[in-house]
Amino acid sequence: MPADETVSAAAGPSLNDAFARLDPADRLVFLSRSISGPIVFTTSFGLEDQALTHLIAEAGIDCRFATLDTGRLFPETHTVWAATEQRYGIRIQAFYPRAGALEALVHQHGINGFYQSLDARHACCGVRKVEPLDRALAGTAAWLTGLRAGQSGSRQALEFVSYDPVRRLLKVNPLLDWSRDRVAAFVHQANVPYNALHDKGFLSIGCAPCTRAVAPGEPERSGRWWWEQDQTRECGLHLTPDGRLVRTGKPS
Ligand code: SF4
Repeated sequence: MPADETVSAAAGPSLNDAFARLDPADRLVFLSRSISGPIVFTTSFGLEDQALTHLIAEAGIDCRFATLDTGRLFPETHTVWAATEQRYGIRIQAFYPRAGALEALVHQHGINGFYQSLDARHACCGVRKVEPLDRALAGTAAWLTGLRAGQSGSRQALEFVSYDPVRRLLKVNPLLDWSRDRVAAFVHQANVPYNALHDKGFLSIGCAPCTRAVAPGEPERSGRWWWEQDQTRECGLHLTPDGRLVRTGKPS
């Protein structure tokens, strides 16, 4: 638990109000001056995360970079990971699934068991993503993400800054109000390294067996877990234990 948990919880609503008047670069600076605990940015190397990495590096924000290597990522994701570290002179700390939990998961459900049921898919995301994320965020005061409101219907309800009562930290989404086109233009103008799969029709990129390219005009996240119907297709990283996206600005 962060030492300044109470301060962090109370800071959420005022930061949220301030963010509405700032651009993303100034939001990052404002955040770093407003809180005292560690800031962690978890990147999956998607377009938004690459833009955010650039902004953090350019602003010189004191921030730890982390990523979740699930063991099922595309080779292109590893390529842009390496290119990003080289471009910005940073090390992005990798968090891997626990070996014992992974062995038990594969033994129970099979190597591609996530296609068989929603429970099996959630179990896989739990072992490969959610548990490593918990370790990545341990002791963190503020968690930076590249979430945007336009990515899905459920994400439209998110706020710039909210208090996550489960992880007891501030969850911060500096690109919340940017469109995908604006992010793409920024990445190209600033010559930010990006995942080559974006040029092949992949909009949202996660694990290789659970991601596919989408046709022009399809929803951004329709290429993720495409075989699932009528569900909020999230991996669990941004969900509360009861299945909601974290959006409250108040401590509970
Ligand atoms: Fe497993 Fe697919 Fe979730 Fe990756 S996205 S952790 S492979 S179910």
